[in-house]
Amino acid sequence: MRIRILLSTIVLTALCCGFSLPAHSIMLVSRSQEVSIGKQVEASMIKEYGGLSKDKALTERVARVGKQVGQISPRQDITYTYKVVNSEEVNAFAAPGGPIVITQRLAKMLKTDGELAFVLAHETGHIAAQHGRKAINQALIAQNVAALLLRNSGDAMRIGANVMYTLYTRGYSRDQEYEADNYGYQLMTKAGYNAEQGIKALAKLGIKRTSGVDKYLSTHPDIPDRIDRIAKMSNIPDDRKKELIDKAQAEK
Ligand SMILES: [Zn+2]
Repeated sequence: MRIRILLSTIVLTALCCGFSLPAHSIMLVSRSQEVSIGKQVEASMIKEYGGLSKDKALTERVARVGKQVGQISPRQDITYTYKVVNSEEVNAFAAPGGPIVITQRLAKMLKTDGELAFVLAHETGHIAAQHGRKAINQALIAQNVAALLLRNSGDAMRIGANVMYTLYTRGYSRDQEYEADNYGYQLMTKAGYNAEQGIKALAKLGIKRTSGVDKYLSTHPDIPDRIDRIAKMSNIPDDRKKELIDKAQAEK
């Protein structure tokens, strides 16, 4: 996930992701603060990506399939939303506390609901596993600005949003991406879709890491590794895996 926005306002870009906290670290970012930051980030991203899509059928499809995976997510203390933005980039992202956004181009590329379910469930996984919330928490502790957050000041909200913009630019860690894929696989199959559709979705995102318009690829681990993991989880043999990849490539 990579964005072009707000670089001039990112004053705290060095905050993110530099170290890990011990497991017993306190979570300073409350759920309501996580949700507030997420809403702010979502609004900025929607603006950056050309506003919401005017394609009503596509918007309804994304909301419907999103709901199928969101309602069975193990994390239910927040509300997941699934929106489409009017962009020709291939990208999808999750903001802390519930908002998930996918570009029109990517949603159209994912022709079956099963393919779409995997990508939306992957993004749902980033929120369920609280990857954004944890990154913001780490940044605040690193900067010793926890007091700001505890006072619930606007400054803390801005810092949190900036951490997320940095995260979108640099990408999550490989382990966090694999964790999100685990959610992707589990939620899509629990929702009744065949895991083969997850492999097709990944294959459509691209087999080789590239630069350029396919921003999704530049911030995610290599797609072949991710495909292999999903194939293993669902006992799909190598020859079938190859068939699915070829099929997905032909459909692109
Ligand atoms: Zn991801």
